[in-house]
Amino acid sequence: MAPRPLIDGFGRRISYVRLSVTDRCDFRCSYCMPTEMEFLPKRDVLTLEELDAIGSAFVARGVSRLRLTGGEPLVRKGFLELVQGLSRHIGSGLDELTLTTNGSQLARFAEPLFAAGVRRVNVSLDTLDAGRFRAITRRGEIGPVLEGIAAAKAAGLGVKINMVALKGLNEDEISSMASWCGERGFDLTFIETMPLGLIEEDRTDRYLPLSEVRRELERRLTLVPLTERTGGPARYVRVAETGQKLGFITPLTHNFCESCNRVRVTATGTLFMCLGQEDRVELRDLLRSGGPDALDAALDRAMLLKPKGHDFVIERRAAEPAVGRHMSMTGG
Ligand code: SAM
Ligand code: SF4
Repeated sequence: MAPRPLIDGFGRRISYVRLSVTDRCDFRCSYCMPTEMEFLPKRDVLTLEELDAIGSAFVARGVSRLRLTGGEPLVRKGFLELVQGLSRHIGSGLDELTLTTNGSQLARFAEPLFAAGVRRVNVSLDTLDAGRFRAITRRGEIGPVLEGIAAAKAAGLGVKINMVALKGLNEDEISSMASWCGERGFDLTFIETMPLGLIEEDRTDRYLPLSEVRRELERRLTLVPLTERTGGPARYVRVAETGQKLGFITPLTHNFCESCNRVRVTATGTLFMCLGQEDRVELRDLLRSGGPDALDAALDRAMLLKPKGHDFVIERRAAEPAVGRHMSMTGG
């Protein structure tokens, strides 16, 4: 029997879920969270069984792509068991089970992830310079991340690099990052900083519009726009000279909301209908008290709450981000 699809009040079908498995992280990227980030008490975080139940409930309702994220998913104890469990849906409803990682632990996880059915990973890498890497992540080292990326490739995983474009920090590495990825067969996506959660600095100081990134690339490359859409904010081009695919995520524009196919679940089981809005349904307590049926009914209620679009504004709001929660909370 075909699953009853999840369709929101604007007729958009939800087929993609990002599930945050932890809010914790071994890095403190300056655009993501403050140095003294306070993490949630462990008792508030979903258990592995609950994460599996929520992921599976979405798959049962026609969700075909599941992305595990965080925080840093690979620091969650039992992460591999979670992936191994959810992978039972691959081929029976689920087309893709994947993750977004900072890569710090990827070297030891790459092979088991591939064995569990993962075929692609997104790895965040904002710079190729060891000193800058330390400065941006505030406690990360680039060496293990590069080893992790190499291990992922060797294990047969497709690699996509995510690079947040940061004015005055990595804007001079746009072309070199594209070349580095091109030489290794990695796709590359540039991301604009989003006003999510308080950090020490004013994000507008680091805001680098991707129109500038694109201009920089076009000085030496021919970018051919692709019509491909993933239901998210990314727009893609093909580099005519190398065949490499490049993505541009400009979440501050509204041009993707009408085709939005995704929702996000935090590590505490809050289902957010939009990264940039507060509309939510708390799934954890419903699951604990009412089991899978209560969870399924909650998904229907949630569909009516999905807003038409987000209200991000990048202006001089200094200490006041558009959305109070950090990206590490909602899951990037
Ligand atoms: N820790 C993992 C990682 O860094 O890949 C997964 C979670 S992280 C929140 C997911 C993505 O969100 C990363 O690519 C990160 O660079 C990006 N990100 C975090 N905070 C952001 C912000 N305020 N604006 C734009 N991108 C952000
Ligand atoms: Fe951690 Fe990812 Fe946020 Fe960096 S972007 S602090 S790696 S959650």
